[in-house]
Amino acid sequence: MLSLERIACRYGRIMALRDVDLEVGAGEFVALVGANGAGKTTMLRAISGLTPPYQGSVRFKGRAIERLAPADIVGLGIAHCPEERKMWPRLSVQEHLRLGAYGRRDRAAIASDMDRLFETFPRLAERRRQRCGTLSGGEQQMVAIGRALMSRPSLLMLDEPSLGLAPLVVQQVIDTVRAIHAQGAAILMVEQSAAVALQHADRAYVLESGAIVKHGPARELLQDEDVKRAYFGGGSTKSGGGDGHEEDCTSIGLGAGDGAGNLGGAGG
Ligand code: ATP
Repeated sequence: MLSLERIACRYGRIMALRDVDLEVGAGEFVALVGANGAGKTTMLRAISGLTPPYQGSVRFKGRAIERLAPADIVGLGIAHCPEERKMWPRLSVQEHLRLGAYGRRDRAAIASDMDRLFETFPRLAERRRQRCGTLSGGEQQMVAIGRALMSRPSLLMLDEPSLGLAPLVVQQVIDTVRAIHAQGAAILMVEQSAAVALQHADRAYVLESGAIVKHGPARELLQDEDVKRAYFGGGSTKSGGGDGHEEDCTSIGLGAGDGAGNLGGAGG
């Protein structure tokens, strides 16, 4: 469904992505992991048209999209739920959800989609008129995901959906993503917690300094010695925890994790 071929992106002289190939099949759940600054956010931005690649092609459902405007890319069925949620603090929950449907004209279907979202997220239903600036981090993440869903995407891209959330809330967010996936949408998820990403995805790509260094079935990557060393401190991946030896985290240059399956730092 989505296919990136030899994508390269730069910010001035900084090369953020080089020769990247990536595929997401219809209904597939794909994770993208890598250390801070590896280029994960840039990859999602290249797909959604926010940072157009200067080289290579992005095809979605057989169509070249690398030169399209972001709004047109949303219209084709790709929704991008950005890092740190990008909310307007003074707008209400309901107003954010309406913004997600700005490209649609089917008013009745928009209303029923919103009703369905409120059934899925009863917490948001209770807070539909509340300003988003006063919501908790987890609630804001739910609004950001809901806003993305209002465009009726066939591919939902999520950038660090668990960033800054308590473990229990992370689980709720992941459960939500899995439910969206179970309903048929393809997922491309960047995740700070490699353990979370690899446990839930079908396949995964490991990005290092702007290049893909490994890819394959997520369960295989979870058992991969280099990945274990980089993200789990060489310890067992079953508990999502390692021994925390950051000096072990160098073998494929993935950057130091925290030994608990999290990448170094708090970025995305
Ligand atoms: P993190 O996990 O820390 O968010 P990331 O893997 O998402 O990192 P990107 O945000 O894609 O990485 O950044 C890739 C590289 O591009 C980094 O070296 C970063 O400093 C650089 N970069 C990103 N955005 C810009 C920008 N607007 N201007 C200049 N350089 C940028």
